[in-house]
Amino acid sequence: MITIRELQKFYLQGESEIRVLNGIDLHVESGETLAVVGPSGSGKTTLLSILAGLEQPSKGVVSVDGRDLTIMSEAALGEFRGRSLGIVFQQFHLLPNLNALENVSLPLDIQGVRNAEQRAVEALRSVGLEQRMAHLPSELSGGECQRVAIARALVVQPRVLLADEPSGNLDVQTGTQVMDLLFDLVIKNGTTLVLVTHNREHALRCQRQIELKGGRLVAS
Ligand code: ADP
Ligand code: MG
Repeated sequence: MITIRELQKFYLQGESEIRVLNGIDLHVESGETLAVVGPSGSGKTTLLSILAGLEQPSKGVVSVDGRDLTIMSEAALGEFRGRSLGIVFQQFHLLPNLNALENVSLPLDIQGVRNAEQRAVEALRSVGLEQRMAHLPSELSGGECQRVAIARALVVQPRVLLADEPSGNLDVQTGTQVMDLLFDLVIKNGTTLVLVTHNREHALRCQRQIELKGGRLVAS
């Protein structure tokens, strides 16, 4: 499902080169759940951004769901993201002027899906928010916002879910509830999951754990 070979990512800062990822090889099976851990600044978000096609690698091969992301145009990447990927961020990234239902139906509206609203309602029901559909993000708690974001990510029935510290902005109890829900939905749908997390318990709920350190993968 996901294959990464000899991936390198470096940024130029003035004269010096910051090597963030320095030779990553990784294969993730379809339906597998994988946790990525590692210290702050170790490149976890960079790796996820490359898997999402939001950033291009400096070197190496990245293929997701049979597509080589390194040779695709911006337009093709956008369409691929919309159809095949769900992404959940630590900061939720909901659109503040859209209510929960509108936020969740947006990815379907963009694709011109006919029964977008009905599917968005079902997605919100699956995260237990059918009573909150007309609420704006500012009228929802952090945990509720993240549940809306999960519904938005999964409403397109993506093959892959990329989650970057989804419980990072939530208190422990709410974070655990959100993760319970995320794992329930991922397992029910057979979605491939790449989860970046600082939380060891959440990482251990994945089938496999890898650690990023010094730009490389080390045994976790
Ligand atoms: P993590 O998510 O593990 O905390 P990141 O992937 O966000 O780490 O960042 C890894 C390193 O790459 C950090 O040192 C960060 O400063 C650097 N970095 C990330 N994006 C950029 C950028 N656009 N330009 C320069 N350096 C960057
Ligand atoms: Mg990060």
